[in-house]
Amino acid sequence: MNSKEYQLTPDIIVRIVKRKKSRRIKITLEPNGGVRVSIPYYVPYQMGVSFAKSKIDWINERRIIPKSISDFEQVGKSHRLEFLEGKGDRVTTKVIDQIIKIFIPTNLDHSHPQVQEAAKKASKKALSKEAIILIPQRVEYLANKNNFDYSSVNVKFTKSRWGSCDNKKNLIFNPNLMNLPWDLIDYVIIHELSHTKAMHHGSEFWDEVQRVIPNYKEQRKRLKEIRDNL
Ligand SMILES: [Zn+2]
Repeated sequence: MNSKEYQLTPDIIVRIVKRKKSRRIKITLEPNGGVRVSIPYYVPYQMGVSFAKSKIDWINERRIIPKSISDFEQVGKSHRLEFLEGKGDRVTTKVIDQIIKIFIPTNLDHSHPQVQEAAKKASKKALSKEAIILIPQRVEYLANKNNFDYSSVNVKFTKSRWGSCDNKKNLIFNPNLMNLPWDLIDYVIIHELSHTKAMHHGSEFWDEVQRVIPNYKEQRKRLKEIRDNL
């Protein structure tokens, strides 16, 4: 698989991926706010970029990560951001209770890349902190309730997956899940737990998912609009 990254707009990076099997151009959104365009092998990269450009409204409507992080913005389930005037000439951050405080030097404003970068980094930390507490609890609850067996649960940021399950039943979830509504988080958890019984996406697997979430197709569709390879 060959790929190249392009800066589509100042805040959107698009990854163009060439796939041997693909026959048409396809656009998907990644959990980290990035955009991915898959193109057939023989199509030039630049065509993928033009395609992404033509979909800019679609991208902006659906992307989870906001273009610019602003004051009092909600992060995950329980954190929010606050921008404050800081001392010195560097951006510093601190999480106090559930508030992510970003201290900005007087010569910069909110939208400065340095400030945005610091806010993103601090938000990621907060998402991890929430995920490492909330996800294992939720996995344990849903596994007990629905008779699933697993070995371990971990959280890890990845570019293109909400979760994974290996053949030893170790589960990994993306902390960006904390920015999704709970029914979608549950769907991702049940999806991965169902892999403990079927390591594929065949009918046996989907029967397992449906046993727990009878209307799973609805959640799957909503999630697909965000990222469609799960
Ligand atoms: Zn799967």
